[in-house]
Amino acid sequence: MIRSEILKEIAPILRDQLVVCNIGIPSQELHAIDDQPTNFYMLGTMGLASSIGLGLAMAQPKPVIAIDGDGSVLTNLCTLPTIANNVTDNYILLIIDNGSYGSTGDQPTYAGKKTSLAKVAEACGCDNVVECRDVDTGRVLQEALDSKKMTVIVCKCDSGNATMPVITMDPVVIRDRFMKAVQA
Ligand SMILES: [Mg+2]
Repeated sequence: MIRSEILKEIAPILRDQLVVCNIGIPSQELHAIDDQPTNFYMLGTMGLASSIGLGLAMAQPKPVIAIDGDGSVLTNLCTLPTIANNVTDNYILLIIDNGSYGSTGDQPTYAGKKTSLAKVAEACGCDNVVECRDVDTGRVLQEALDSKKMTVIVCKCDSGNATMPVITMDPVVIRDRFMKAVQA
C-alpha cells in the first residue's frame, strides 16, 4: 500500500479526531480524501507536524493525531525525545514510513535503509511504540485511541504518491476553522 491508500482506509477513524498533517503531498492527499475542519494541513515548516501535535495535545484534552512521514521525523529528530519526556496520553504520532521523501520526488530516506524509527523512538524513551504493516494501520490506530496512552506508530508502507490537487484554501481559513474545531 502507498500512503494515500492508508489514508483512505483510516479516514473514518480520523474524521472525529483533531489531526495535524505533514506538509506537502500527505496534506494534499488527506484534504482530497476527506477534508474536515478538524484537519490542520501543514503548508510550511517541514518536520514540525509532530511538535505542533504534541503542543496541541498538551494544551487541551481532546485526542490529537499527528500524521507525519519518515523524512519529516528525520528532519526534526529531536521531536522524539521531546515526545518521550512529555507524556501526553491524548497524543498519537502516526509516522507513515514509506522510506522516501515523497513530496520532493521519492528520494530514499535512511528510514528505508538501516535506520529503524521505531527503535529510535524506543531509545529516546517513548513508552508505547508500535511498528506495523500498512494493512494493519487502521486496527493499530484504533487500539492506540482506545488505550488512551500516548503512542508512536510507525507504519511501514510502499513509496509513492497519489495525484491530488493542491490545497487552495487560504492558510488563515485552515487555521481559523481548525481553532474553532478545537474549541467546539
Ligand atoms: Mg516518506
